[in-house]
Amino acid sequence: YDKFINSVIEESAGVTFSEINDLNGQIRPEMVKVTHENFFRIFRLDLFKQCPFWSGTEGFCMHRSCAVDTIDDWKDLPAVWQPEALGAIENASPASQDNSKDYCEIDEVNEDTVYVDLVQNPERFTGYGGDQSFQIWKSIYSENCFNLGHDQCVEKNFYYKLISGMHASISTHLSNEYLDLKTKQYGPNLKQFMFRVGDFPDRIENIYLNYIIVLKALIKLESSGILDNLEFSDDEQFRSKEVELKDELRDIIKPSYHLGDDTAECLFDENSLFQSADAAEIKDEIKENFRNVSRIMDCVHCDRCRLWGKVQTTGYGTALKVLFDLQKGKDYGNSTYDISKVELIALVNTFDRLSRSVESIKNFKKMYDVAIKAE
Ligand code: FAD
Repeated sequence: YDKFINSVIEESAGVTFSEINDLNGQIRPEMVKVTHENFFRIFRLDLFKQCPFWSGTEGFCMHRSCAVDTIDDWKDLPAVWQPEALGAIENASPASQDNSKDYCEIDEVNEDTVYVDLVQNPERFTGYGGDQSFQIWKSIYSENCFNLGHDQCVEKNFYYKLISGMHASISTHLSNEYLDLKTKQYGPNLKQFMFRVGDFPDRIENIYLNYIIVLKALIKLESSGILDNLEFSDDEQFRSKEVELKDELRDIIKPSYHLGDDTAECLFDENSLFQSADAAEIKDEIKENFRNVSRIMDCVHCDRCRLWGKVQTTGYGTALKVLFDLQKGKDYGNSTYDISKVELIALVNTFDRLSRSVESIKNFKKMYDVAIKAE
């Protein structure tokens, strides 16, 4: 636990596993509170978009646990979402945001748009597996092939770790809420965890690395003043709630400032990436590849997995955008930095997923120690 996290660029590794565990212990209660807020628990997506890469409908997951319960009546949505939801019903295609320069593709608002309460639809074991999910993961990892011939470049290494960390975090959640067929209850399954994650130290490390990356994006959003300028909604009545929510987000990152003088800064130094002569090309390629990963989510046959896959690819895409495209010190003034409601919600929920994974890993470690003693 006292080992330093290899933060891709080795010289900048400034934090240990146990420091992150302690930090997460402080962050966790606030994180639970924020993700249960009406604003952060609702996610918008299109569950019916065609897979753009291959055809075939044979793969629908028919288990009940693969299903998503959507909010079907716009009147049941929190007020901040109602105008948009009503617009989507009355007008098939309200103006959509141009996100062609982003790291992920965000679903447009149209007649297939659904709104989902993430708390009511937890990420857990669904039974989705076999050739279908294997094919999806294989395609996701194949987006790690770069055309420019930078086979050994540090950015490629970073990209692989990001994907592997996302995969390992998903595996941790499904092992932590695994269906016990005897009791019909969901609960932690140590065997599943060890087989998918625990026996692979690099996978654990990649989860912690993703934790640092997404936390650093939240810190940058705050310290750059962007968070202050963000407007979550045009609704006047929502203004005071918005101020409260921004304070809650500040409370999440506050404990990281107490790690040490400038530990928050050296958690992960994004400025060490994209420094070579062909950095712009490499960055474009990473953007393109990660956008493809987000599009692959439309090929996931299990709706519940697709939902959480979209939340997390959008969350990581937003973190990359904040870390690599937001210029520190630049005055964004009133022309608010372009982060949509969906991106912010995804970013916060993705951090919650990682925070939950770190907490679960700690619990699995305890279960493991007990099991070893009992042998
Ligand atoms: P998989 O997890 O499918 O892995 C395939 C191969 O990838 C492994 O054999 C291994 O060689 C390699 N690998 C595994 N983990 C890593 C890693 N971290 N880093 C590098 N390589 C790795 N199932 C659920 O029950 N609930 C969910 O919410 C859920 N969400 C999903 C979301 C997405 C986007 C996808 C594609 C799948 C999801 N699944 C979910 C399915 C789940 O991820 C597994 O694919 C499934 O349980 C089958 O597991 P497996 O043991 O065959 O290995």
